[in-house]
Amino acid sequence: MDWRKSYKKAVTFSYDDGVEQDIRLVEILNKYDLKCTFNLNTGLDYDHGTWKCGNLWIHRLNLPNNIELYRGHEIAVHGRQHHNLTELSPVEIQNELYDDAVEIERLFGIKPTGMAYPYGAYNDAIVDKLSGLGIKYARTVESSYNFDEQTDLLRYRPTCHHEDERLFELSYEFLNSVSDKPQVLYIWGHSYEFESRKNWDRFERLCSILSGRDDVFYGTNSQVLLYMD
Ligand SMILES: [Zn+2]
Repeated sequence: MDWRKSYKKAVTFSYDDGVEQDIRLVEILNKYDLKCTFNLNTGLDYDHGTWKCGNLWIHRLNLPNNIELYRGHEIAVHGRQHHNLTELSPVEIQNELYDDAVEIERLFGIKPTGMAYPYGAYNDAIVDKLSGLGIKYARTVESSYNFDEQTDLLRYRPTCHHEDERLFELSYEFLNSVSDKPQVLYIWGHSYEFESRKNWDRFERLCSILSGRDDVFYGTNSQVLLYMD
């Protein structure tokens, strides 16, 4: 569905790593009827890929037990083991992405069409591989600080990270903007960051500001960037 036929603006979210704090994040997103794409590492689980962020131990979710959690949102590729793709051989890159995509399809029943680069790391050789894997958009970590649609979807630049000091300024600018061209507000981050910084109220406030507008389409990344159903 091409949202541009009925709307001038779209909001979408992108959250990485499939961690325990996604449970609270999804609860807030669902409360406000907002849609997100979750970039998951199917080769990691509660006991693998654990690390410490400040004083907080970060655990990934055991995905087979959390299929329902993500219902209504999109699942995308983030590398099976969350390796830095720029440090892998061509064969390893292929496996890291392909195996993640296959496992996502097995678990969630839908072939993924997008991804986020682990650590935001990519290069031209990696980008060249993506279309062969069925990946049609890939998110970087470089802020665009604008709302224009982008043509290079395999080097997609989000509007900003949720911790960006301009987050609320940009959100209001987006909501108040008047433009003939379609406008996209794309926010990304990690749910554990809210837990670690004890600022879940920041996300709640953001969702409250952005939600409930009849002139804004709320969709996953593939709905907003690829106009998929
Ligand atoms: Zn990640």
